[in-house]
Amino acid sequence: MRFGARDVRDLSWKQLMDAYTCTECGRCTSVCPANITGKLLSPRKIMMDTRDRLDEVGKNIDKYGKEHDDDKALLNDYISPEELWACTTCNACTEACPVNIDPLSIIIDMRRYLVMEQSQAPAELNGMFTKIENNQAPWQFSPADRLNWKNED
Ligand code: SF4
Ligand code: SF4
Repeated sequence: MRFGARDVRDLSWKQLMDAYTCTECGRCTSVCPANITGKLLSPRKIMMDTRDRLDEVGKNIDKYGKEHDDDKALLNDYISPEELWACTTCNACTEACPVNIDPLSIIIDMRRYLVMEQSQAPAELNGMFTKIENNQAPWQFSPADRLNWKNED
């Protein structure tokens, strides 16, 4: 059992079918705010990378059998953490896609793997996670102090 997705075997059949269905039209990338502002992320590339990796895994299975491990993965060999963390989760890519593909769900699953299995999140997020664990809120104040504002003049 693995939290999130490191490779195509961790993705759902819908996510894999999405990768095979992508027409590469680029509408998703043309509305992506991360891409528009010059970040590394392209949701179109996320789908094409997923399909390329899926093709590769399929050829390996044909050649060497189901248990073969080629020591590669969708994460890092195809899609970098920098791309994944550039996503604002705005969902514009999914709304723009003419064939109902959801690139965001793959991004979220791969981020989930980075955070829950590798403890690899940007420093700003790690700070927030710790505060949520300790204070049940993303701020640095104790839950006991939450209503202090009502005593201020
Ligand atoms: S959800 Fe992420 S990948 Fe999709 S358009 Fe928004 S920023 Fe881009
Ligand atoms: S909008 Fe949909 S079909 Fe077009 S490139 Fe993006 S994911 Fe593929």
